[in-house]
Amino acid sequence: MISRLKGTDDILPPGSAKWRTLLRAFEDLSERFGYEFALLPVIEATELFSRGVGEATEIVEKQMFTFEDRGGRSVTLRPELTAGMVRAFLDAGAQGTLKLAAAGPMFRYEQPQKGRRRQFYQVDFEYLGEESPDADVEIIELAYRLLEEVGVPGIRLAINSIGDAADRVEYRRILQEFLRAREGELSPDARRRIDDNPLRVLDSKTDAEAVVDAPVPLDHLGGEARAHFDGVRAGLDALGIAYEVVPRLVRGLDYYNRTVFELFSSGFEAAQSALGGGGRYDPLAEAIGSSREIPAVGAAMGCDRIVEAMPAPRADRLDVFVAVASPERRNDARRWVSTLRSEGLRVDWDVTPDRSIRGQFKSADRAGAAAVAVVGDEWGEGQVTLRRLATGEEERIAIEEVGSWLSR
Ligand code: AMP
Repeated sequence: MISRLKGTDDILPPGSAKWRTLLRAFEDLSERFGYEFALLPVIEATELFSRGVGEATEIVEKQMFTFEDRGGRSVTLRPELTAGMVRAFLDAGAQGTLKLAAAGPMFRYEQPQKGRRRQFYQVDFEYLGEESPDADVEIIELAYRLLEEVGVPGIRLAINSIGDAADRVEYRRILQEFLRAREGELSPDARRRIDDNPLRVLDSKTDAEAVVDAPVPLDHLGGEARAHFDGVRAGLDALGIAYEVVPRLVRGLDYYNRTVFELFSSGFEAAQSALGGGGRYDPLAEAIGSSREIPAVGAAMGCDRIVEAMPAPRADRLDVFVAVASPERRNDARRWVSTLRSEGLRVDWDVTPDRSIRGQFKSADRAGAAAVAVVGDEWGEGQVTLRRLATGEEERIAIEEVGSWLSR
């Protein structure tokens, strides 16, 4: 028996029902917000991530599934979507603005645990080519509404601004000075970060105590970044979306500037508990080779964690199960099942021929049907017998009234 690889999952029923609900909500919401659909390669040139995400990040240093293909090129299974989205936008000419939604598997070589998988899934929204803080607000709202829509309890939104690259030159120096003075209290990882990625030390869990009084980017914003952050806050306030400003929130990737955010739920607690996050990444396009800056903002939501926080889905999976009382009614039943399905009802029947009615009721139960409709002699008079499985209530009704009886 060959088993699945460590850190990967088979997402099967009954658990997969929540995934379907989540992916439907993603499709529906992104369309309602005007985000068009994108499908991108799962495999990209390694350079896209080393230059886009950043050499000195956890992902690029330790977590990528990187290998040489048969042509001798270094390729990587995508650890995230944003760099690929920007690459695709640039490849397509990067004209004007583009609002994109995408979903799919990501790959990171992590120590597998709750909410930390080696193959995991994200749904992703990107607002490309727009610098207005209202784009940030829209992305944050979309991420927030997705969690609301699928019933995630106790949603908490954390936001921050890390300023522009130019603001960070001076800030970085001040932060490095602070960290060097406390080097003895820092973890080996944090000590290593002082030179290459000092910002990252701010949201390190192991070093939380050592950096409580560290200077934060928020106190070193330039005028434009400050005005932008004020705009984001004002937009969220106007929408009535509650948030907390968390000055030490910086996120792990190099490409962010200005706004960063993360979303949490009381329904999901773990060492790494963010259900999703994102931010503005104006420097990313140039980092991967664009000749001009392309302002953009996006959000990536972790499906594996969202699903864990979601409530149980509705109990009935089928509206009706059609049972056949006699073999000569089989084709009537077949055509009726087809009609009901085309009308949008969730319908199934037993394809094993000549099952007893009892056997078919058992199948209905197993299939999670709300009701059983028996196609028997009364079919000749344009009727079926319907039984609600939860209550046992039974009634003979006209075929054309079945839809309204079921929704009652
Ligand atoms: P990130 O941009 O790395 O913060 O990823 C965005 C979201 O994806 C996170 O908030 C998580 O919900 C999810 N995520 C990231 N890495 C993993 C992983 N290894 N396993 C499961 N979910 C993940």
